[in-house]
Amino acid sequence: MSFELVCTECGAHHDASRYRIGCDTCGGLLNVEYDAPASVDGRTVAGATGFARYLPMLPVQDVANLVTMGEGDTPLISLPGAGVAIGVKHLYGKLEMCNPTGSFKDRGNAVQVSVLKETGVTRAADIAGGNAGHSFAAYCARAGIKFVGFSYRGGYTLDGPDNRKVQAIVQTGAEMHWVEGDRQACQEAMSRFCEDTGTLNMVYGRNAYFIEGNKTMAYEIASQMDPLPDHIIVPVGNGSTFQGLWLGFKEMLEDGRVQRMPRLHGVQSEAFQPLVHAFNRGDRKASTGAADTVAIGIKIAEPPRLQALVNASRDSGGQPVAVTDTAIIAWQRRLSELEGIFVEPTSATVLAAAETLKQRGVIDEADRVLVSLTGSGFKEPIPESAGM
Ligand SMILES: [Zn+2]
Repeated sequence: MSFELVCTECGAHHDASRYRIGCDTCGGLLNVEYDAPASVDGRTVAGATGFARYLPMLPVQDVANLVTMGEGDTPLISLPGAGVAIGVKHLYGKLEMCNPTGSFKDRGNAVQVSVLKETGVTRAADIAGGNAGHSFAAYCARAGIKFVGFSYRGGYTLDGPDNRKVQAIVQTGAEMHWVEGDRQACQEAMSRFCEDTGTLNMVYGRNAYFIEGNKTMAYEIASQMDPLPDHIIVPVGNGSTFQGLWLGFKEMLEDGRVQRMPRLHGVQSEAFQPLVHAFNRGDRKASTGAADTVAIGIKIAEPPRLQALVNASRDSGGQPVAVTDTAIIAWQRRLSELEGIFVEPTSATVLAAAETLKQRGVIDEADRVLVSLTGSGFKEPIPESAGM
C-alpha cells in the first residue's frame, strides 16, 4: 500500500521514498498516513506467517525488504495467581518478553529497520544501552546495516561494559561510543558524528515507523481474546507501545473489525511521570523529586510525543498511573512466585499498576484485564534494593 508522512505540527505532506525522522518544513514529528485504509478482507496476506501477513497495514512496500526474526505472535496467557492477589477474576499477560531479543522493541524495529533497508540506508546511529538499543542493533545486524551506539555515564543503572544489554549490542559488531557528560552532551556528540560521517541520526522516540510496528500487538490481541479485554496496562517511557496499541485498535474500530476500544492505562514510575502529570494537571513537570527508579526502561523525563499519549489516554478512557519502586520490586518477585514468570523491573510496573487501579475502583473485580509483560528479567541484575 502506498503511504505518506504527514507532519503533526504544520500538516505538511512528505513522500516516503527517503527515510525521514522529522518534517522538512518545521521539524515537527511525523505520522504515517496510508492512501486508503486496508479493507477487512485485505487486512492480512493469506498464507503468510509472522509480520509478513500484516504488510497491508505496515509502511513496507516489498515483502523482500522485510527484516524479520520471527517477532510477534507472542503468547497470551492467564495469570490466575496474580489475579487473586490483585482481586480481579480475569487477569491475562501478553508475553512480549518472548520476542527474539527479549522485549517488545522487536515489533517496532522489525518495521523500522525494514524501512531503512527499503530506503537504502546503510549506517544508523542512536543512543543505546537498553532493550531498544539491543533490539535495534540486532535487526541492523540482520539487515547488514552498520549501527553506531552512543551512551553516557548515568544514562543507565549499570553503565559501561558490565551492562548486559550493552554486551549484547557489542556482540552484533556495533560500534559503541561512551560520552562524558549528560544526555544532552551525548546527543550533541552523536549529532556531530552523524554530520561528519553521513550516518543517519535515528533520534529514538520521535520515529513514526517504530509505532507502526507496535500496532501489530493490537491486531494479535484482537485475534487472541474474545471478548476483548476491558483494560490493557503497559509501561510508558517514550510511549511507543502505548501509541501502537491505540493506533491498532483505532484502525480496527474504523473498519468494523472490533466494536470497542479497551481502556489503555499507561504506567510510569514515581520518579518519572510526565504522562501522569500532563494528564492530570496539564503541565509537563517530569518528576516528583524522587531521585531515581529501578524501572530504567521508562526513565524518560520528556517523551517527544507526550500530547499524543495524553490524547490516546483520554480517547480510550485510560487512567495513567505512577507506581513506587517498592511496589515494582515486590511485583517482580511476586510474579515469579505466583506465575513462574521472570520479568525486568520495568515490566513489573504493570502489576503494581493493576493493583493500584483496582484499589481506586478504576478496575472492577469482574473486568478482563490484560497486562503487557514487555521485557525479560534475564538481561538485568535484580535491583540491589530487593535485598538479594
Ligand atoms: Zn511540519
